[in-house]
Amino acid sequence: MNLLMAFLLSFLLAFLAFIKKALTPSALILAFIFAFLIAFIGGFPSFLMLSTVFLSTVVAGKIKAEKRKEISKDIHEKGHQKDVMSIIANVAPGVFSLIIYYLTKNNCYLIVYAALMAEAISDSLASDIGILSKKEPINILTFKKSSAGLSGNISLLGVFASFIGSLLIALIYLIFYHNISIFLIITTCGFLGNFIDSYLGALFQVKYKCPKCGIITEKETHCDTKTKYYQGIKILNNDMINILSNILTGLICYILLFFI
Ligand SMILES: [Zn+2]
Repeated sequence: MNLLMAFLLSFLLAFLAFIKKALTPSALILAFIFAFLIAFIGGFPSFLMLSTVFLSTVVAGKIKAEKRKEISKDIHEKGHQKDVMSIIANVAPGVFSLIIYYLTKNNCYLIVYAALMAEAISDSLASDIGILSKKEPINILTFKKSSAGLSGNISLLGVFASFIGSLLIALIYLIFYHNISIFLIITTCGFLGNFIDSYLGALFQVKYKCPKCGIITEKETHCDTKTKYYQGIKILNNDMINILSNILTGLICYILLFFI
C-alpha cells in the first residue's frame, strides 16, 4: 500500500480508538505507528485483519459491560483501556513478523502475521465473551471449577468465541489469497494460540491472594490491602504471557507451513 493511503487508514483506525476511549494516550500513538506499518507493509488484507481484531474487542467490550466490569474489577490488574504494554504484547510480534516479510519477501511471515492476529482476536474474545459464561469456568490444568476472569480458566462459551474469532481472521486471508490449506493453518494456530495462552497463564502467570477476603486475583491490592503472592512467576503478568504465547503461536505456524 502507498504511504498516503497507509497513513490515512491508520489515522482513521487510531481516531476510532480515540473516540471509543479504547487506548491510553501513549498506547494510541504506538497503535497508530503499528497500524501504519501493518498497512504499508502488509497492504489492505493485513490492515483489515488488524481492524477486525480492534473492532471485535470494542464490540465484545460493549456486551454486558456492567457484568464484566463487576467481575474484572476484582481480578484484573488493568481496566478495559489498553496501555502501551498491552499494545506491545498483542501487536508487536505481528508487526515484527511483517518487518521480516518486508525484508525477506518470504510469504511465510505474512501468514505468521495472520496467525498472530487470529491468536490476538481469539485471546481477547475468549476473555471478553468467556467471562460472561453462566457456567463457572474450569481451570485448564486441574479441570476444577474456578472463578471467571482469572487467567488459565476457560469456559465453553469462551472457547467457542475464540474459535469464531480465529475463523474470522482466517476468512479474510481466504478471501484475498484463496488458499484453503493456509486458511486452515491460520484458524488452527489462532485457536491453539489461545489455549497456549490459557495454559501458560494457569501455569506461570503471577497470582495474588487477598488477605482480607481470600480472593485469588491478578491485582497487587484488594480490599484496600496489599495482596499476598499466591503462585506463578513474579515477572510474568498477563502481557508477558501474551508475548510468550504469541512467539509460540508464530513458531508453530512457521513449522506447519513446512508441511504444505
Ligand atoms: Zn479482598
